[in-house]
Amino acid sequence: MKLLVTGGAGYIGSVVAAQLAAAGHQVTILDDLSTGHADAVPPGARFVRGDLRADAPALLAEGADAVLHFAAKSLVAESVADPGLYWSHNLGGTLALLDAMRAAKVPAIVFSSTAAVYGEPEAIPIGETARPRPTSPYGASKLAVDSALTEYARLHGLAAVSLRYFNVAGAVRDASGRWLGERHTVETHLIPNILKLARDQSGPVSIFGDDYPTADGSCIRDYIHVGDLAAAHLLALGACSPAEHKIYNLGSGTGYSNLEVLAACREVTGLEIPVKITERRPGDPAVLVASCERIGRELGWQPQHGLRQMVADAWACGDC
Ligand code: UDP
Repeated sequence: MKLLVTGGAGYIGSVVAAQLAAAGHQVTILDDLSTGHADAVPPGARFVRGDLRADAPALLAEGADAVLHFAAKSLVAESVADPGLYWSHNLGGTLALLDAMRAAKVPAIVFSSTAAVYGEPEAIPIGETARPRPTSPYGASKLAVDSALTEYARLHGLAAVSLRYFNVAGAVRDASGRWLGERHTVETHLIPNILKLARDQSGPVSIFGDDYPTADGSCIRDYIHVGDLAAAHLLALGACSPAEHKIYNLGSGTGYSNLEVLAACREVTGLEIPVKITERRPGDPAVLVASCERIGRELGWQPQHGLRQMVADAWACGDC
């Protein structure tokens, strides 16, 4: 297939682009490099540095079978500080992309959505029919795109799949053997934060709160290996069908506490990794665990890698 991958120089987009190229698809990556890296573009993919609004229309006019849409702002705290930025980029940018797709008659999209659309859960595990109640402009902007996709499917016959990611971690090697991993300038995520402090020996890891209503008092999250996550995108591409908007959670269905994640990092690295317990981070729900029953049943997807492998690959990658 001929595919446009927006945000394909970022962490998740580059891993998906690598799998698509390796599977024989013709991949063009559009990325403004605001957070991505040109050297993450996998072998065999064409790279265009540019903007969704300005540059997607011309690329789509060349003809494409589908778009995989990763380009977005994704920092929760930044979205709270500057909501307009998130509405403009994440919703406005995507609406411009959808209209360019219509103009060029591109029939299908796989959209990078997030568990942040659910907010504070009413029940665990979280299924796709749970009431979405985002607690940040980031989650709200992603949920708004999901609503737009439902409408474009119903009114314009678009084939759309949204994948709602839980906590993505780990790294993979591309076809040339190079690691593709997490390299955020502003890193907020638990596993890369722990591994960076371990690597640099630069002080204790802050664990945000140990008074949550969980077995060890720290928050519980559902981790998914980026390679497993990417594989789900290839299945989603095959599951796109006209005038339908399908929504799938992507996690593992298993939760690990922050202290269990720290223990896995200590085990993998063989390092002591000092810890200090600090204040809760505002807006963190105690437990987020996905139900992945729907994607298992409908697309036959199952995660292949556990937490230890995610930590081991992130550590081997060394980008973190
Ligand atoms: N966390 C932490 N220390 C850090 C980074 C994160 O204790 O340096 C906690 C955070 O409060 C949450 C969990 O780790 O309970 C996962 O946070 P992350 O930012 O990785 O992902 P989120 O679940 O917020 O998307």
